[in-house]
Amino acid sequence: MTASKSALNPLDLFDIRSELSDDERMVQDSVARFVDEQAIPLMREAFEQHRFPSELISQVAELGLLGSSIDGYGCAGLNSISYGLICQELERGDSGLRSFVSVQSSLVMFPIYAYGSEEQKQRWLPAMAKGEAIGCFGLTESQGGSDPSNMKTHAKKDGDDWILNGSKMWITNGTIADAAVIWATTDEGVKGFIVEKDMPGFTSQEIDNKFSLRASITAALFFDDVRIPAANVLPGVTGLKGPLSCLTQARYGITWGVIGAAQACLDEVIRYTGDRVLFDRPLSHTQTIQIRLADMARRITTAQLLSLQLGRLKDRGELRPTQVSLAKWNNCRAAIDIARDARDILGGSGISAEYVPIRHMLNLESVITYEGTETVHQLVVGKELTGVNALG
Ligand SMILES: Cc1cc2nc3c(=O)[nH]c(=O)nc-3n(C[C@H](O)[C@H](O)[C@H](O)COP(=O)(O)OP(=O)(O)OC[C@H]3O[C@@H](n4cnc5c(N)ncnc54)[C@H](O)[C@@H]3O)c2cc1C
Repeated sequence: MTASKSALNPLDLFDIRSELSDDERMVQDSVARFVDEQAIPLMREAFEQHRFPSELISQVAELGLLGSSIDGYGCAGLNSISYGLICQELERGDSGLRSFVSVQSSLVMFPIYAYGSEEQKQRWLPAMAKGEAIGCFGLTESQGGSDPSNMKTHAKKDGDDWILNGSKMWITNGTIADAAVIWATTDEGVKGFIVEKDMPGFTSQEIDNKFSLRASITAALFFDDVRIPAANVLPGVTGLKGPLSCLTQARYGITWGVIGAAQACLDEVIRYTGDRVLFDRPLSHTQTIQIRLADMARRITTAQLLSLQLGRLKDRGELRPTQVSLAKWNNCRAAIDIARDARDILGGSGISAEYVPIRHMLNLESVITYEGTETVHQLVVGKELTGVNALG
């Protein structure tokens, strides 16, 4: 008889980790340690209390997780696979924590870096990398996030300044942001404005009573004749391609992030079904449960391979938004189905916050909706295949 090889890692059946470089593995390990030791013990309580655990910001910053893909300006200059791994490990803790890092990194620091003036970069990027300044990104409006071309928020030139009017809805980090990157229509097309928290006429209001992403701040923003100096306009981009390019960055991170949430659910349910004895045998010894666990592993493996290839394409500068759409759709769908099934396998315990699936399941209801709903991403892929835009 030949000796059996050591068991595979149930959360990484295809040994994706062996594909990583030493540096990438180091990033993953250090974030995983932070999540296990510092974040996970806090997240459940934060979710129950409906509060963002801002006490974690300085540690996240110290680890170099804010704006990690940016080279210079006090940022870590990591590659795309590393950014993905950061998202994966953070979301293994909670989607709210990953959302905070995604917004700060991909939706605020990225546009300032890609489209900002040198003065804007110097002013905001080092402070944001240290977590001393927080940002938010305002694109969605109450009349329909899936159709940003119907944007009503507008800015009008007044001498060298701009006067901003309108409102934004569902804005992550909205009430704690020192700088809000706000997209508004102008006579010249859509432009990005850095609205500072103390600017007269700018107010924000937290959205209470969420049953999802409870450990993340979500807010409505209001702009009533806010005077914005020319120095606060992002000079490098005009048109919807500005915000959409930011979304491509953030959606890429989400494809990795949700893998972490799914892994946390599978991990929990493997343990639980091994211990839970029904009809004189552990649940894990039944065929149906094994098939359900195997199906979770299949979905996680598929998602991992998609994200890994996406990361490689991104690092080669070959990433296409359609590919990100397909992966965001696939991986969010996989993660939410896994979380819902894990919740069911836990029986009554599945509705208790003592076990992670219900928290991940509820969080993933937001993650599958924001940054483009499942339908929107399906229609992006449909357009790629047919050449016809069926979205609108
Ligand atoms: C917790 C949370 C945090 C968020 N954070 C931010 C943020 O930081 N910044 C930001 O700008 N936005 C943010 N959003 C907003 C998010 O991006 C939007 O909610 C999302 O884009 C969907 O927009 P909507 O809610 O207006 O839904 P709608 O656009 O009204 O969509 C409603 C439904 O219609 C479907 N639909 C849309 N178009 C079509 C079509 N052509 N055919 C068939 N069905 C269609 C959708 O799939 C969906 O099921 C956040 C949302 C949440 C929930």
